[in-house]
Amino acid sequence: MSIVDIRQKIYSNYLFPVIQRLPGRNTLSLIKELKETQWYSQQKIEEMQLRKLKHLISYAYQHVLYYRNVFDQFGIIPGDIKTFEDYKNIPFLSKEDIQFNHQRFIADNAKNYNFVTTSGSTGTPLTYPTNGKTKGYHIANMAFARSWWGINSNDKQMLLWGRSGAMAEGKKGIINKIKMAVKDRVTNRLRCESYNLNDENLHNHYKKMSKFRPDFIYGFASSVYLFADFIRRKELDMDKFSLKGIIITSELIFDKERRIIESVFNAPVIDEYGMVEAGIIAYSCPEGTMHIMDPTIYVERIPVKNSKNSNIYEIVITPFSNFVAPLIRYKTRDLVNYTDSSCSCGRSFSVLGKLIGRIYDLIQTKEGKRIAGEYITDVLEYIPGIRQFQLIQENWSQFIFNIVKEPGIFKKDSEQKIVSKFKKILGDNISVSFKYVNSIASESSGKYKLVISKVTQRNN
Ligand SMILES: [Zn+2]
Repeated sequence: MSIVDIRQKIYSNYLFPVIQRLPGRNTLSLIKELKETQWYSQQKIEEMQLRKLKHLISYAYQHVLYYRNVFDQFGIIPGDIKTFEDYKNIPFLSKEDIQFNHQRFIADNAKNYNFVTTSGSTGTPLTYPTNGKTKGYHIANMAFARSWWGINSNDKQMLLWGRSGAMAEGKKGIINKIKMAVKDRVTNRLRCESYNLNDENLHNHYKKMSKFRPDFIYGFASSVYLFADFIRRKELDMDKFSLKGIIITSELIFDKERRIIESVFNAPVIDEYGMVEAGIIAYSCPEGTMHIMDPTIYVERIPVKNSKNSNIYEIVITPFSNFVAPLIRYKTRDLVNYTDSSCSCGRSFSVLGKLIGRIYDLIQTKEGKRIAGEYITDVLEYIPGIRQFQLIQENWSQFIFNIVKEPGIFKKDSEQKIVSKFKKILGDNISVSFKYVNSIASESSGKYKLVISKVTQRNN
């Protein structure tokens, strides 16, 4: 037995169960609940959801100032909410509502929470509180959905990812880096940085992968695609690997990219849909259908007005897990094309539909530095006062940030900070300018492009 095998055994038999039983986390019982309920009747699942919704709503009214005010203003009495129709009288919650009422979202009895910052898929950054319990839900959903594909908690994971925490300035960045390295080691994870995916780095990733022999790969679609494309171009040996799947997250993948990834790695592409402030929302099953994690979240599909296609809906969510700062009828701004509600796999969890938003172009410089557009969110992570943004790569070296400012919070020296972080990733031979705008429109297709590169343009 090799050291990696031993570590793997220790993690799955001892560490994973212990960590997931930490105070506030009840991951293991959640995984059990998910495994059982997936075969329930739809009616039984809906009853369970309604029970959880009612509980969350009365909790929010009792402990969260924002909801107390809104409910009072609209004459909503939590005890009167008895059906899903009643629940729909609660007004929608937008990202802006949270941005402007930040402190009023935190429950008066909340403790042991910390803040996470997300840029969000539509370029609206958000700082949001989370705690161990919320994290437990996140891990449980992931572990459960991955089990559909035969992926276990002790399987070896190759992670194609940035290091967002390590982007923090000074001591915080160093501490985050160390924490991450320890966590990777304990959890059997090979972290391959995807800030700069030039051929040299991609070859190093391949060499590390050869030594590590992962059971599955996890990463952003465009990073994974670049890696697959490199292996294909260089005709590198893939026969020695036996992968259970390639999990892609956070962004849309084009069909031709999916086909290339699957044929290079000789494994299925698994889709994960989630967001920092809400955790895992849906996962694809082996039939290729995105199933909503019904026992942990209530999802509504709201028809998009003025859309030429009547099958286009916006996803609105109410996760049952967050009692620090509950999200009720939260508008994600993510769009799906929804036509069919059933899946032949037999699971009762609702069908999400096909995600059609979240497209990022790839950023590439003349020197061959390449990064997935998502990493731009890391560059902006610790910059306060950005309501919405979009990055445009005009040519090889010229970049423009369109920014909707939060008046009074966006500071003058933020520009300098953004430029220096950006150059750290892409090198000094680039120019970065800023344009302050009142709004950023989505494209006519309804898709919102966070990163547009006139050099690399992704399309179907
Ligand atoms: Zn299915």
